[in-house]
Amino acid sequence: MDYRNAFDMTGAVAVVTGGSRGIGFEAAVALGQCGAKVVIASRDQSSLDAAVRRLAESGVEATYTVLDVTDSSAVNKAADAIVAQHGQADVLVNSAGIARLNSALETSDDEWRAVVDINLNGLFWCCRAFGRHMVARGKGSIVNIGSMSGLIINRPQTAASYMASKGAVHMLTKALATEWAKSGVRVNALAPGYVATDMTLKMRERPELFNTWLDMTPMGRIGEPAEAAAAVVYLASGASTYVTGTILSVDGGYTAW
Ligand code: NDP
Repeated sequence: MDYRNAFDMTGAVAVVTGGSRGIGFEAAVALGQCGAKVVIASRDQSSLDAAVRRLAESGVEATYTVLDVTDSSAVNKAADAIVAQHGQADVLVNSAGIARLNSALETSDDEWRAVVDINLNGLFWCCRAFGRHMVARGKGSIVNIGSMSGLIINRPQTAASYMASKGAVHMLTKALATEWAKSGVRVNALAPGYVATDMTLKMRERPELFNTWLDMTPMGRIGEPAEAAAAVVYLASGASTYVTGTILSVDGGYTAW
């Protein structure tokens, strides 16, 4: 291995769901700066437009596709269209996700379904659609954004739907990793701790939540999107060719206590 080039993604095509904001956007910056051509996907066209402009300012060649990951036939069409246009999809980062804080007893059917539909079902539709092309080509790396909430139960907030969905993402990651290992397709997950994105913005404004989070994080701070994105590049790139089925924690030590 030429270690200086282990993270070089030149010539790779990387698809990032949830790429318009937060961890997905930063993963797109990181993969793009390492040389990949990036396609970002989410539901809102104007945020995608703005994100592609910001990516260009960071020197990243990117395009977008408007996609709701819960629509499995739209996901299949998007995967086929991206592969037809670019000739391949080397990397898929599944970052689209939502969180809803609620007690179990107050969680409505609709809320439960919305969280599971985006975080788990949508992620599977994307893995299946892009995985089909990767398996046929014998090459690919999928990085699912799981969460420390798939490993531990957060507190003081309650969010059973979110934690269940993320635990399932981790097991799905391992299942796909073993199914596709001999086909040259690696599947890993990142398990971030609290990260400064829109998802946590309202929660960070609540001192009773935020102070507990800081107290429970050995490093005493939350993470930046770039700190998650750097780990995405590791899992996506040639630096991790013998890594599959792993859940990589990037959480300031939260799950060590
Ligand atoms: P953000 O809220 O900042 O971004 C979420 C992204 O997902 C947006 O681009 C959003 O775009 C997109 N998205 C949401 N629903 C859909 C959908 N149905 N189809 C397509 N795209 C969708 O969240 P983060 O960046 O913080 O989170 C990214 C991932 O990281 C999530 O899976 C989250 O669970 C996980 N994570 C986050 C942590 C944190 O502390 N922030 C900690 C651990 C894990 P749009 O709404 O326009 O479609």
